[in-house]
Amino acid sequence: MDDATYREWFPKVKDLIWNDLSQYVDQIEREGHIPHDEVIPKLAALGLYGCLVPESYGGLGLSVGQYVPVLIELSKMYAGLRGYLHAHVSASKLLEFATDEQKARIYPGVAKGEIQLAFALTEPDNGTGVDITTTARREGDVYFVSGRKHLISNCDIADYLMLVCYTDRSRGADGISVLMLPKEAPGFTWDPVGGLMGCKGAEHGRLNLDDAQVPAENLLGGVEGKGLAHALEALEESRVFIASTSLGTAERVLELSLDYATERVTFGKSISTRETVRSYLAEMATDIFALRSMLADAIAKLDRGERIPAEAAMCKQFGAEAVNRVTDRALLVHGGIGYTTQRDIERHYRDCRINMIEEGTPSIQKTVIARTFLDGYRFQDFGSQL
Ligand SMILES: Cc1cc2nc3c(=O)[nH]c(=O)nc-3n(C[C@H](O)[C@H](O)[C@H](O)COP(=O)(O)OP(=O)(O)OC[C@H]3O[C@@H](n4cnc5c(N)ncnc54)[C@H](O)[C@@H]3O)c2cc1C
Repeated sequence: MDDATYREWFPKVKDLIWNDLSQYVDQIEREGHIPHDEVIPKLAALGLYGCLVPESYGGLGLSVGQYVPVLIELSKMYAGLRGYLHAHVSASKLLEFATDEQKARIYPGVAKGEIQLAFALTEPDNGTGVDITTTARREGDVYFVSGRKHLISNCDIADYLMLVCYTDRSRGADGISVLMLPKEAPGFTWDPVGGLMGCKGAEHGRLNLDDAQVPAENLLGGVEGKGLAHALEALEESRVFIASTSLGTAERVLELSLDYATERVTFGKSISTRETVRSYLAEMATDIFALRSMLADAIAKLDRGERIPAEAAMCKQFGAEAVNRVTDRALLVHGGIGYTTQRDIERHYRDCRINMIEEGTPSIQKTVIARTFLDGYRFQDFGSQL
């Protein structure tokens, strides 16, 4: 999207988030479900389902630097809705690896929100990566897929689930592919998982694949064996997106804490005059500044087309730790009332816990970071990036 159009568009997004979507927070918290019939047309009207879909296919074609502020703003308001949109938009990133025929078939509907997407990698009985056991066997023009997935966001409404599975187990990582599983595929059912700690609203179900039939034309990119590489490349951006959501939540709770510290009086003095409270606020702001700086660097590199496995994992990991610390400090600033649903701190505190888990746990992030440096990666001289 060109800069002039973006400058007109983004204030409309902020307006939608704060003056329209905010009406659903209490309902979603209470019921645990996003009212899709009402929310989808609102997001679609501003093209939000097509943030990463190229303009030539009817999308917004946002750069990473243009999309990140959307996630930040949504996270400031309500992480439940950002979780839902993030799952769709990040899955749409995988379509970059699709064939021209697949792009023409799917991108326009994805951009309009008429085709909803999910990404299905995690398994209940196995680790993530080469340890998965979901397997597809091809017979003629059909793949028959068997296995189990779980915690798959948006599985209730996804028209296509970007399913990571083996197409040739004998080839290890090079035998993993992504199949675009249609929701109506014979042999495919799902069950709700439910009962989330926070980030409520989207369904994160268990997929049952019993010889589920996927047309061979739905093999992403038309070539077997590229699935893990594609998923890992897409994950780089996605980890930066999670770090952005950490930033959004952290900035929001700092704002709420500054307000509360100023308004709350004990022993005749505002608590904002107390050294301990000031030190909490200072620590929160410092974490936020560090995360902003890391993200600025990572986003610039992504928008220059660079691969950044280490930086993406560092942003994701530091961001998750930072937002956990910041919400913890925010709770301390608020005292007891912060522990109740009368204040939004309670919700933000729960919601951001997912940022530690989503798109890989700390051990995965640290493995990626250490491996990248041990393989020879080094930062450029600091002066060259100023
Ligand atoms: C709300 C929500 C939404 C989600 N959405 C999706 C989605 O849309 N699509 C999807 O595919 N997944 C999704 N997930 C799953 C999520 O990506 C995984 O839960 C996460 O990656 C961790 O994997 P796991 O649950 O299998 O944990 P496990 O792998 O069981 O890890 C448990 C612990 O063991 C450690 N551990 C495991 N293996 C190793 C190892 N080899 N070395 C060292 N430590 C190890 C981990 O670091 C962690 O601390 C979602 C999860 C949640 C909660």
